[in-house]
Amino acid sequence: MIRLAGVRKQYADGTVAVGGLDLEVRRGELVALVGPSGCGKSTILRMVNRLIEPSGGSIEVDGTDVIEADGPTMRRGIGYVIQSGGLFPHRTVRDNVATVPRLVGWDKPRTAARVDELLGLVGLQPEVHGPRYPHELSGGQRQRVGVARALAVDPPVLLMDEPFGAVDPQVRDRLQLEFRRLQQRLGTTVLLVTHDIDEAVRIADRIAVLSVGGVLEQLDSPAVVLGA
Ligand code: ADP
Ligand code: ADP
Repeated sequence: MIRLAGVRKQYADGTVAVGGLDLEVRRGELVALVGPSGCGKSTILRMVNRLIEPSGGSIEVDGTDVIEADGPTMRRGIGYVIQSGGLFPHRTVRDNVATVPRLVGWDKPRTAARVDELLGLVGLQPEVHGPRYPHELSGGQRQRVGVARALAVDPPVLLMDEPFGAVDPQVRDRLQLEFRRLQQRLGTTVLLVTHDIDEAVRIADRIAVLSVGGVLEQLDSPAVVLGA
């Protein structure tokens, strides 16, 4: 579903952020990309999402060559969740979640029904949380809204950049497991970036461990690592 082959990224200042990466995420799989700060995790997600171009190699999402594709069209098929939810601060929760449905031209009734459904899916109450602004929510609630917004038009692929990083530790465990159940139910293919190995072990099908500039190893069975 997501396939990177020989992907390289060198920034204009000469920094080699990714130095030849092969990585595959199969349909319906949740793969966690783990590694220390600065090892290129965000750069990888931004290339898959076509926010930046690789310097070399190839990236395919759902059979489409990302580099050849039209950026805005590509991104509508890819949900993107960043730390703290990345919400628009001056829009209500409802308007945040409705952003992409409106962009792709859904009418008002369809959009409104979908927003209610999504807020329910992520454990929020449409009538209570829908009219609020992001600053009126807890960190965990904001992250739930971020997930709802990313799932709005049923993208087959979800990219997540430290999605639970800004959430209180007490809330984080529950949010991770709830998200995992939702992802399995929807069959969404997920590439999740984190520096938190415990998170990866808890929810991923496979873990790719990154050192500065490349994948060191891919672990098929996270549970084995825990027991080791
Ligand atoms: P991570 O997400 O793992 O923390 P990043 O992908 O953000 O890593 O960054 C990887 C490397 O690329 C780091 O050395 C970082 O400083 C560098 N980098 C990131 N963005 C840019 C940029 N726009 N220009 C130059 N270097 C960058
Ligand atoms: P976190 O869950 O990351 O600790 P905070 O509790 O710091 O998030 O929430 C950020 C802001 O939102 C704070 O000013 C807090 O008072 C406020 N807030 C949190 N939950 C609610 C809520 N249910 N209704 C209104 N405001 C809230």
